[in-house]
Amino acid sequence: MEEFQRLAEERERQEAEETWLQREAIAQRQFQIDEAKRRQEQEEVERLQWEQAKERAEREEIQRKQREEEIRRSAKAAAEFDAMMESMNEYLNNPRLENPPSHLLRVMETHPEERPCEFFSRTNFCRYGHACTFNHRRPMLARIILIRHFFNHSMLQGRQPHTEYSSGEEHLELTEQDLRSDYDEFFNDAVEELEKFGTIVNFRTVRNTLEHLRGHVFVEYTNERSALRAFTNLQGRYYASKRLNVEFSNLKTWRGAVCGT
Ligand SMILES: [Zn+2]
Repeated sequence: MEEFQRLAEERERQEAEETWLQREAIAQRQFQIDEAKRRQEQEEVERLQWEQAKERAEREEIQRKQREEEIRRSAKAAAEFDAMMESMNEYLNNPRLENPPSHLLRVMETHPEERPCEFFSRTNFCRYGHACTFNHRRPMLARIILIRHFFNHSMLQGRQPHTEYSSGEEHLELTEQDLRSDYDEFFNDAVEELEKFGTIVNFRTVRNTLEHLRGHVFVEYTNERSALRAFTNLQGRYYASKRLNVEFSNLKTWRGAVCGT
């Protein structure tokens, strides 16, 4: 009986121990799973951090290259500009050079890969300016110069003259006649000045009420040297309290320079 009791206790203890071992094994296993998961999460965080750092480094590298490219490009443009100015000076001051150096006869293009801007080709001016997506082709040097908004007249403003033109009861409206005589005065004035740079073949003013074309004056000289002389002397000078803006023109037809009727 005593022996039986002892065996029963022994079995009970063994069972208890086995249960404990089983629980311990489960706990161990759970710990390993948790640990593996934690490690995986940690690795994921590290991987993301590394990727972000890599992306940042790549971005900075691209920005650095862009800055370098910009500096290179502006240095190149400045060198080209200096070379162009030098050529222009040489051409201006050396009468033995009959024709302009070939690289002054280049055409500058805003979007060489695009089709030409019809408006710019026709009038040498486009209301969209630099924002235009079509190609603006502008000669670096030509026999014709364009002086934007050179002729300024209230008849071209497309609105009624201001009351200061009226006197007393008598309402003086500007007439075609006034425009004509004011234009003649402007013309004589301008031609006298512009002839100082060379012989003028053509002098055309755009009579157009569209603001971006209004009063543009095209002056054609017999040769590029005269046009260049006019350009360098007039650019930035003031006329009738307005700063002159002179550029070279490759206008095909005079009629085309006028928009509409
Ligand atoms: Zn355009």
